[in-house]
Amino acid sequence: MNKPETPPNSFRNMPDDRGHFGEFGGRYVAETLMPLILDLEKHYRAAQADPAFEEEFNDLLQNYVGRPSPLYYAESLTEEVRKDAPEGKGAQIWFKRDELNHTGAHKINNCVGQILLAMRMGKTRIIAETGAGQHGVATATVCARFGLPCTIFMGATDVARQKPNLFRMKLLGAEVVSVTSGAATLKDAMNEALRDWVANVHDTFYIIGTAAGPHPYPELVRDFQSVIGKEARAQMLERTGRLPDMLVAAIGGGSNAIGLFHPFLDDPDVKMLGIEAAGHGLDKKHAASLAGGGPGILHGNKTYLLQDEDG
Ligand SMILES: *Cc1c(COP(=O)(O)O)cnc(C)c1O
Repeated sequence: MNKPETPPNSFRNMPDDRGHFGEFGGRYVAETLMPLILDLEKHYRAAQADPAFEEEFNDLLQNYVGRPSPLYYAESLTEEVRKDAPEGKGAQIWFKRDELNHTGAHKINNCVGQILLAMRMGKTRIIAETGAGQHGVATATVCARFGLPCTIFMGATDVARQKPNLFRMKLLGAEVVSVTSGAATLKDAMNEALRDWVANVHDTFYIIGTAAGPHPYPELVRDFQSVIGKEARAQMLERTGRLPDMLVAAIGGGSNAIGLFHPFLDDPDVKMLGIEAAGHGLDKKHAASLAGGGPGILHGNKTYLLQDEDG
């Protein structure tokens, strides 16, 4: 398999001027979207240099999202795991409770950051894709908070199996579009959102929900979600006087993982483990793009993919 070398330190923090982190990332988008993507990056750089942006973001995280989320010592689970460990050994297990945020997941951290950017850019309509519905709910929530109309694209398969989140989005005033193309799941919802964006780029901002899409989105998502790792690092030091041996995160698109991991990248003794759902074995319905895939282009960026000869 064609394994990339670990990127040098600088790639960990800032992409190059074409938006690549080492070999990956970049902006592979239609010509129509290129000016908007460049404009978004320009506005983000301006926001990063503006203390008022950080102040407003932090104020919303604290007083609207409900941060910091607790770091919880999972005593019973620790004891359960220790039953199988050699005498005197076994990990202490701590949970970073980001499901206690407003709307019940970490998605809202990123949505707050991106809608602030959308408003700085003068955009008046929001679109988003969603899979299980958590990102759709978080997007509909920040749109209701700031009074912007929003359209959420959701695969028809997901619409059928995520009724409660569909109801919540509609309750919050969002229009939900059921996408029937392809497998009618997340990837197809994202394709449809990108199509809408191309057609409505003059007034529409696309809030991407995970570490995906063309540059600067993965960087935006990383930065807005890094609050998870910054808090966890400080809370661990305060509660235990040391850093964790290992971080573990569930991986969908990778946003909570990169948000947790990123503030620990300069701590060489902290190991990091991303866990993907097992589906139905390695060859069927398994997110095995890293183990079985190779570099390719999807949704505007270069990443690891499962693909056939035609890409
Ligand atoms: C969305 C979601 C995930 C997966 O998405 P990432 O972008 O990989 O973080 C995992 N856990 C929860 C609770 C989620 O809402």
